[in-house]
Amino acid sequence: MNSVFLKTPLASVKGIGPKFIAKLEKIGITSVGDLLWHFPVRYDDWSHITDIKNLRPGEYAVIRAKVKKIGFRKSWIQKLAIVEASLEDESGSIRTIWFGQPFIKRVLGEGKQAFFSGKVLSGKRGIFLSNPAYEVVSDEANIKELFPQHELLAIYPETKGLTSKGIRFVIGKVLPRLINIPDFIPEEILKKNRFPEINQALKSVHCPKTSEEEIAAKRRFAFEELFLLQLGTLLEKKRLAKTKAPSIEFNLDFIKWAFGRLPYNLTFSQKRSLYEILKDLERHQPMNRLLQGDVGSGKTVIAAIAAMETTESGYQAVFMAPTEILANQHYRTFQKLFSDFGHPIGLLTAKSSLAFYGDGLESEMRKKDLLKEVENGKIKILIGTHALIAKSSGESKIKFNNLGLIVVDEQHRFGVRQRAELVQNQARKSSGLVPHFLSMSATPIPRTLAITIFGDLDLSTIDELPSGRKPIITKIVDPLNRDKAYAFIRGEIRKGRQAFVICPRIESQSESGDLVYEYENNEAGGLSAKKSGWSESKTVKEEFEKLSKKVFPDLRVAMLHGKMKAEEKQKTMSDFKEQKSDILVATSVVEVGVDVPNAVIMMIEGAERFGLAQLYQFRGRVGRGEHQSFCFLFTESSSETTGQRLKALLEAKNGFELAEKDLEIRGPGALLGAEQTGLPDTTMRALQNPAMIKLGRQSAEHILEKDASLRSYPALKERLEKFKADIHLE
Ligand code: ADP
Ligand code: MG
Repeated sequence: MNSVFLKTPLASVKGIGPKFIAKLEKIGITSVGDLLWHFPVRYDDWSHITDIKNLRPGEYAVIRAKVKKIGFRKSWIQKLAIVEASLEDESGSIRTIWFGQPFIKRVLGEGKQAFFSGKVLSGKRGIFLSNPAYEVVSDEANIKELFPQHELLAIYPETKGLTSKGIRFVIGKVLPRLINIPDFIPEEILKKNRFPEINQALKSVHCPKTSEEEIAAKRRFAFEELFLLQLGTLLEKKRLAKTKAPSIEFNLDFIKWAFGRLPYNLTFSQKRSLYEILKDLERHQPMNRLLQGDVGSGKTVIAAIAAMETTESGYQAVFMAPTEILANQHYRTFQKLFSDFGHPIGLLTAKSSLAFYGDGLESEMRKKDLLKEVENGKIKILIGTHALIAKSSGESKIKFNNLGLIVVDEQHRFGVRQRAELVQNQARKSSGLVPHFLSMSATPIPRTLAITIFGDLDLSTIDELPSGRKPIITKIVDPLNRDKAYAFIRGEIRKGRQAFVICPRIESQSESGDLVYEYENNEAGGLSAKKSGWSESKTVKEEFEKLSKKVFPDLRVAMLHGKMKAEEKQKTMSDFKEQKSDILVATSVVEVGVDVPNAVIMMIEGAERFGLAQLYQFRGRVGRGEHQSFCFLFTESSSETTGQRLKALLEAKNGFELAEKDLEIRGPGALLGAEQTGLPDTTMRALQNPAMIKLGRQSAEHILEKDASLRSYPALKERLEKFKADIHLE
């Protein structure tokens, strides 16, 4: 038997078909290690058989039943293969449906006995099993053979044709051949917390003999990532503590001057946040602060004043926005508010390179020249997109003369922090000083979570909106009243207003792997399946078609989605801003900070599919101008939780309240956007567990106290490097 290592490519393991390898590759699994760290989402308990008469909707269950009748048909709308069977045991019978797996009819003939495991759903014609897994049994004797040592069968997230059965098979090939791996978690920590060591834990998580074993292994893996995460952030903190930052004078005259330029008074929280920031800038230690505040709470101006004060002390500041649109917006804000500010401000994006010298003096220049002006220190504030700090062969493209402050707007992305570090490091190389760092986010993050993910940062919070804002009228619209809502929208648009329509992005994969299809009741009373593996652009396109052709053929409807080219997006957005279109149908692309004061309607389709914090963000896109604004939530879901959640949105006083709720209901992944943070799912789930966070923290501190260099923990050091490399990926 050939042995394998974690690094062994799966392609070189005997007995795994190339087709399967290709499918695994699609979800990023290429090595033995990748595969073994692909964890089950749940386990089927095959030792626990439920009688059909005791099945309840919403549960996962295993039954043992005989196939009474089985039939195959194609759904006539979607041309999807449907196998439908009637199963019976001594207690009763139940219907089961498989979508898109026509071969099942061959495998499971009438009269066959089998185990079925899946979720019980309820439809118009009563309860049924949806896409259950099955194991045919010919007689009692082969049950042992089916489940040799363990009765808990791992169920993996099923995507793109990867079945749990297939993954179990491959893991069965790999796990027994794995050369014992050294545990990177120090033994003292394992012992103290009674965590299983790594080789055992891997076995237990994929092929548990008992559920205790499986739980212990999962605990270990949850710990593992929180431990690594916090080890990383603590080390980073230690590293930063040793560095020096430029001290930026708290310049009262300048602040008075800036306040005098504003057309409004800052709110109390704005002032407090600004004070906290300016106090940090004074210190010789680099600031690492997150400025949080609801959409529209006025974060930009705070960062702008901080950036300008930095330049007053002779240092440069860089201001980064997530999109070209926002970078432009910020640049114009600076210009408008502080037209007589004495220092040149530059704008650098993929499309524009401009410099503003005050008093209406603006010049367009070549990118190269602008960069030169930044390098020689003439341009004091540079505004641009994240592309500003994009890596090019390991180094940042832009050289600053003496960078004092980095501001990153709408930073709910983990990766940005790392990229900003690049700039910090590079700036340090030139002057020996590390610039201060300020990030801003409208996604409120509960403190424990923020500290765990972003490291040891300080938080400033703007928790009030500028006075005089009209509350946005928010309504959950009953599907029956859809036409009325459309009529209302038309009325507002006739008055010259504009509307956003947000469509959900439908995920092609569900947590349990069995929601690849959505169920719809058709007229005949049966169920038809709708493939929900739709891409987000498709839902937007369909909605766009519907609205532009059927509902509002008389209005100008535009669309915006993530698959469009950057230029197209930019153009669509600026057209909307300039009122060249009336309705913008979009995906969550518009979630981020765009300011269109004339848009007064936010209509959200499939509202149940969004997190509360996200819905809150969408709603914040309107209500920025003088007119009364409205938010309409459409949902097809009549479930109680959806109702409760949407109601929470109607009632919540601020985004923080909602964020806490979201964290509770859907977990940090939903709150932060799992793809955005780049953290593995398991970490995301672990982040929901405060006790585990604490344990990870204490353990990390303990280890660093003993050996901050990690020289005596080589396996840990290596694993930490890999972990860091993994989460850098965006
Ligand atoms: P966000 O915090 O979402 O980034 P912005 O900085 O874009 O919010 O501010 C939203 C709007 O509120 C801007 O048009 C800005 O000029 C305005 N604004 C900011 N602070 C105040 C204030 N204290 N009073 C009135 N309007 C303000
Ligand atoms: Mg903003």
